[in-house]
Amino acid sequence: MAERKNLYFFYKKDKELQEKLNPLFDLAVENGFHIVDSAEDANIIVSVGGDGMFLQAVRQTGFRQDCLYTGIKHAGADAGLYCDFNMEHFNEMVESMKYEELEVRRFPVIEANVNNSSSFYCLNEVSIRSSLIKTISLHVYIDDLHFESFRGDGLIVATPTGSTAYNKSISGAVVDPKIPCFQVSELASLNNNRFRTLGSSFILGGERKLVLQMEQDGNDYPIIGVDNEALPIRNMTDITITLSDRIVKTIKLKNNSYWERVKRTFL
Ligand code: NAP
Ligand code: MN
Repeated sequence: MAERKNLYFFYKKDKELQEKLNPLFDLAVENGFHIVDSAEDANIIVSVGGDGMFLQAVRQTGFRQDCLYTGIKHAGADAGLYCDFNMEHFNEMVESMKYEELEVRRFPVIEANVNNSSSFYCLNEVSIRSSLIKTISLHVYIDDLHFESFRGDGLIVATPTGSTAYNKSISGAVVDPKIPCFQVSELASLNNNRFRTLGSSFILGGERKLVLQMEQDGNDYPIIGVDNEALPIRNMTDITITLSDRIVKTIKLKNNSYWERVKRTFL
């Protein structure tokens, strides 16, 4: 990791945070790192904030494949699922980057193609939710097999690292990011003679293709979310979800496994 010396910090630019970050920048520079002003020049992109900020850092820098990402949580808070480091212990991060005590961790990403035209990457999930008080209806296909017809508030398709976010709030399983897969979970499904769904979350292998076809019944203007951003797409006809060949590479401290962070966050 010796050649990885250019750090780009992604954060909400306010004066108070800037003042807190200045000593961190100094420390990094003293240890031979360069702070760059443009993400394009970086080989390590560091978000400062919470998991939401980390998601934004990855999205706004375009899911870079030639870059490592890492997150620093604001002072006082516990480390987030994506944030291995804490502002108060920034020296630990610098020391370990310097002495290469880090490991690279690879997180699966899903790709959502909407209406056969625009593709989006997601590190947490793609969510399709009714934007009206009425239910939406989606026909669910797995590898071209018509699997079920869903009517309800919506469906969430989560990556392994997204499994602890929205997916977990709706009783989805927490999935080890070492497994290349994605998980489908329901938001309040109606179950009757016309609409019958599995009722539990299901996990698809990385080679599968999931197609959600929207019934054009008037309520076909759902809110489509990719991580923490809503897409500006209005009418949806279908969305195809696959595991991307992109991954997000993050740096982790030794002895800070995914399951350690899950335990620390939830137990
Ligand atoms: P937010 O509404 O502030 O996020 C909700 C919470 O989810 C925050 O505490 C956030 O942590 C945490 N979070 C984000 N990604 C996580 C992950 N992979 N594992 C565990 N916790 C995670 O919005 P946001 O911070 O921009 O985060 C966007 C995410 O919120 C979406 O991708 C979605 O997964 C989730 N979300 C959840 C619900 C729900 O549970 N009902 C509803 C909508 C969205 P930080 O405070 O560290 O940012
Ligand atoms: Mn947040």
